[in-house]
Amino acid sequence: MKVYKTVKGLQRQLDKERKNGKSIGFVPTMGALHNGHMSLINKSVGQNNLTVASVFVNPTQFNDKGDLKKYPRTLENDAKMLAENGCDYLFAPSPKQVYPKGDKEGPALDISQLTQHMEGPNRPGHFEGVVQVVHRLLVIVDPDKLYMGQKDFQQFSIIAYMLKKLKMKTKLVVCAIMREEDGLAMSSRNVRLTKANRAKSPIIHETLSFIKKNLEKYKVKTLEKKALTMLSVKPLKPEYFSIVDGKTLAPITEVKDHKYIVACTALWAGDVRLIDNMILKKI
Ligand code: AMP
Repeated sequence: MKVYKTVKGLQRQLDKERKNGKSIGFVPTMGALHNGHMSLINKSVGQNNLTVASVFVNPTQFNDKGDLKKYPRTLENDAKMLAENGCDYLFAPSPKQVYPKGDKEGPALDISQLTQHMEGPNRPGHFEGVVQVVHRLLVIVDPDKLYMGQKDFQQFSIIAYMLKKLKMKTKLVVCAIMREEDGLAMSSRNVRLTKANRAKSPIIHETLSFIKKNLEKYKVKTLEKKALTMLSVKPLKPEYFSIVDGKTLAPITEVKDHKYIVACTALWAGDVRLIDNMILKKI
């Protein structure tokens, strides 16, 4: 696997590959890689001639600068994992490479409809930063396929919207959530959990599973209330538990009125913010 730190170096190589007719799959990440990320890499390796991964902790999507500072950085180990999983190129740029004209650069895209709920109000400016960085990385890499995780439901929904609205040629492939054996969704932030918080965290997946099982049994508002009660086990502190339409990301009231329903949650385990979700219905 070759590592590139500059846009020019990577593009020179990818231009050559493209001229030879190679298809390119792209997996953008913020590093501190785990098996969840590797499932995206494996999917891309299986579906394309070449796989490019990026490791870039994007400053513009952190509304909380403390979180940016604390974000784990493990580039050497990331490169090793990527190489072992068949990734061909790693792009690990500096902010200056990604944003040569300054960090205000980005596509004009109104995402306000998709950011009204869940992560949107809790993390002002976050998705604008995500759109900005993914758009910029797509311009740099110009892949045939883009791989993202269902783990970040609102994120991939917004990127799907961006690809459609801006008529970009890249196809989005959404990959299933990879979990630890006890159900905790894999996340780069999990390494920062204390032992006590880690021990309580399987309740997130248990709650989502309970809600799925009881979707037809209770009213939506009751389900959300029950979920918040289940998640309020000290020292965990739920921020939201929302049952929304999987397309519009707007809260729902009647299960029967929707074909695609997802439950999304965020909670605090000490100073670590965890998110998770589960598709409750898709017909
Ligand atoms: P991140 O490095 O956290 O920005 O994540 C990079 C990509 O990996 C995103 O598309 C995430 O949705 C995806 N991802 C993160 N955790 C998981 C997981 N547990 N299972 C599957 N995909 C994941």
